Amino acid sequence: MKRLLLIGGGHAHLFVLEAFARAPLPGVELVLVSPHQLAPYSGMMPGVIAGHYHYEQGCIDLAPLVRAAGCRWLKTLAVQFDPANRMVVCENGSRLDYDLLSINTGSTPPPMTVVGVAEHAVPVKPIESFLDRWRQLATEVACRRPLNIAVVGGGAAGIEVVAAMRHRLARTTWLSHHFHLIGRQDTLLHHLAPQAGHTAARVLRALGITPHLGQAVNAVARDHVELADGTRIDSEFTVWATGAAAPAWPRAAGLAVDDAGFIAIDPMLRSCSHPDVFAAGDVASLADRPHPKSGVYAVKGGPVLAANLRATLQGLACTSWTPQTRALALLSTGDRHAIGVWGNWVWQGRWAWRWKDHIDRRFVGRFAAHKLAAHPHSSKENPSCATK
Ligand SMILES: Cc1cc2nc3c(=O)[nH]c(=O)nc-3n(C[C@H](O)[C@H](O)[C@H](O)COP(=O)(O)OP(=O)(O)OC[C@H]3O[C@@H](n4cnc5c(N)ncnc54)[C@H](O)[C@@H]3O)c2cc1C
Repeated sequence: MKRLLLIGGGHAHLFVLEAFARAPLPGVELVLVSPHQLAPYSGMMPGVIAGHYHYEQGCIDLAPLVRAAGCRWLKTLAVQFDPANRMVVCENGSRLDYDLLSINTGSTPPPMTVVGVAEHAVPVKPIESFLDRWRQLATEVACRRPLNIAVVGGGAAGIEVVAAMRHRLARTTWLSHHFHLIGRQDTLLHHLAPQAGHTAARVLRALGITPHLGQAVNAVARDHVELADGTRIDSEFTVWATGAAAPAWPRAAGLAVDDAGFIAIDPMLRSCSHPDVFAAGDVASLADRPHPKSGVYAVKGGPVLAANLRATLQGLACTSWTPQTRALALLSTGDRHAIGVWGNWVWQGRWAWRWKDHIDRRFVGRFAAHKLAAHPHSSKENPSCATK
């Protein structure tokens, strides 16, 4: 019996579980290590913050998938990797050896080295912890007094989160809360076309959210954020959404990593140093074609990962993956509107949100228990997510 060990219930591993649910591989034991039953789907998290969806609606329930895949599930974290001896140690003390390992554990927040950030800022990831803090603020403190709220990070996550928080409090409290978005670059969404950043800044201003751009944060305190030029922005709830960093363990474990510490993989999604280790999503980086850290690549890589893990277990050839060079981005702006970006094309409106909502619901619905049973052997369907 060969053991395929999956670490992390991320977007790509959904497709692996789905593939095994639809076509079990005799002689293969499937084991998943992931701490939570609900896997949050990134595209819907801003809608959860805004109050458009319940948390459960924005998540994929791993339980039916795991059951259908005939998978053994350890609800814990993997804490130690020893690829030389093909061994993973978990937080609950379990030691698991493997024939083939697949890693889809996502990214971590960047090191919170700015003065006061670790004590006073709330990182947007892990999203479960962020949502706990947000719910408490939204349902208790924000109902009693007006708040200043700052989000640090001028990328898609920062924009969506600040707009979602504004929407939620505007709907649920009568108080005038103040919102700020702080970005180190001179424009928002600097990875995308300049027009996208201009549109986002215009939309945020129209919502009463003040962008502060071209300024790094010098320090965060309990009641304010200090920018590099000395500007002080009042904030009693400071959210840290400054991008994705690599966890420390891949380098420490001796896996080949890129300069930033993400697991270096080849086009087959296989570790460049360890052929019995595969990785996908934010935790991995294609050695010769790195792509942005966004859910879309974790989703698009999922079916390739599933096929290649199964091929490797059967002694067959793997297929290679060429990620798309550009992706459609649909960013929600809290009020059931969204900004769409495709290359240099940028648009904005309610219909863009409806489109995003449709795509996101369809994605989550794909992994619902009844769908797994109803459409056997349909794993060649093209996956989609709100950025695609
Ligand atoms: C607020 C916000 C909004 C976003 N919106 C979008 C969007 O609209 N579109 C988009 O494309 N991207 C979006 N992103 C980015 C997106 O969240 C990530 O790129 C995406 O989640 C990466 O997917 P993944 O499968 O690599 O990992 P994840 O989705 O992070 O999943 C990793 C899983 O592994 C588990 N895990 C972690 N460590 C361990 C361990 N040691 N042992 C076992 N299990 C572990 C975690 O619990 C989790 O279940 C957003 C991000 C944020 C913060």
